[in-house]
Amino acid sequence: MLAPNLYNYLRKLGKVLPDPVKIFEIGPCYRKESDGKEHLEEFTMLNFCQMGSGCTRENLEAIIREFLEYLKIDFEIVGNSCLVYGDTLDIMHGDLELSSAVVGPVPLDREWGIEKPWIGAGFGLERLLKVMHNFKNIKRAARSESYYNGIPTNL
Ligand code: ATP
Ligand code: MG
Repeated sequence: MLAPNLYNYLRKLGKVLPDPVKIFEIGPCYRKESDGKEHLEEFTMLNFCQMGSGCTRENLEAIIREFLEYLKIDFEIVGNSCLVYGDTLDIMHGDLELSSAVVGPVPLDREWGIEKPWIGAGFGLERLLKVMHNFKNIKRAARSESYYNGIPTNL
């Protein structure tokens, strides 16, 4: 679930798969975070990425719209920036970031052997669950022995 790993997949799969290459991955992420209602130290990333034809901002937004409309989650898209990718599109539900999305190419690509356009977005699964179930704290959606299917086990 790290950028270098995705670059490796794109480079390898770009040689053998028909255009455009599409990747979907889901897996655990670990981050040292300060405590809070929106942050976990272990969470689950849903990540999709497309490389080659059709990698426009318009298509990226259309995929995100289709996904979140299916889940019936309201959102707005705002411009932002981050150290790794530069300009990003943040998908917001009120003050809560659901995803950061990128329209490539970005300067880092060349060092990883990627020369085609790409688009991608990463969603935190637990943040989607928090919104869908109206949880006050993201921990209710987290992998933990403190909750079973969202119900506290410390009764
Ligand atoms: P935030 O600004 O809310 O801390 P971020 O910009 O650091 O998030 P990204 O690196 O853009 O997060 O990760 C993509 C997505 O992964 C976020 O939009 C969010 O849905 C989810 N995510 C990131 N960090 C966490 C965390 N600590 N706990 C739960 N979900 C997270
Ligand atoms: Mg972000």
